[in-house]
Amino acid sequence: MARRWIRHRETHFVDRVGWLRAAVLGANDGILSVASLITGVASAHAGQKAVLVAGVAGWLAGAMSMAAGEYVSVSSQADAEKADLERERRELHTMPEAELDELAHIYVKRGLEPALARQVAVQLTDKDALEAHARDELGISEATQARPVQAALASAATFSVGSAMPLLVVLLAPAAWLVPAVIGASLLFLGVLGTLGARTGGADAVRATVRVLAWGAAAMLVTAGVGRLFGVATG
Ligand SMILES: [Zn+2]
Repeated sequence: MARRWIRHRETHFVDRVGWLRAAVLGANDGILSVASLITGVASAHAGQKAVLVAGVAGWLAGAMSMAAGEYVSVSSQADAEKADLERERRELHTMPEAELDELAHIYVKRGLEPALARQVAVQLTDKDALEAHARDELGISEATQARPVQAALASAATFSVGSAMPLLVVLLAPAAWLVPAVIGASLLFLGVLGTLGARTGGADAVRATVRVLAWGAAAMLVTAGVGRLFGVATG
């Protein structure tokens, strides 16, 4: 969630990195939860059809829960931004002089000489006072505005892309090799994504990849173990 609170002058760069990172994380989630689910069900000696049904259900449930979570969290951020803007609009109306001083002061702090800062503040206030305060005081601009629906759709989509990978393996792999094929292919996908995610974030790629692989392997081993126990107990 922190990425959305980043307010930075180089908005485009930050946005792109945040967006890519979110996409990689969403796909990671999709791969890992659906692959673990499939591994668990398949280890209980379920037929291929039951495994596929479980995988598809896991994909849909995960995508919807990701979308709902994202929608709720980004909505509350959008509400906070709206309330900030509303308060700003009121203050501009009731105390325009103080607001002009405030804006000029912001530009002084950013390095302008007081006379020039005042001139900039006056001209920007004439053009669109609310826009100037939103951008330079609150850090809200067109590019950084919270968009709940967009965020919800994006996380559902990236989770779905991730889920599709283990589901495809179920369709393509021979039944006898289902569990090792899903585990092997999923670790491969996770590794590629982990490297990609680390690269875009400028982090150490090897460490990030090892971390994601360790967690992935642990998750699938746990569900495989539980599935096997259930399979023995009930079959
Ligand atoms: Zn203000």
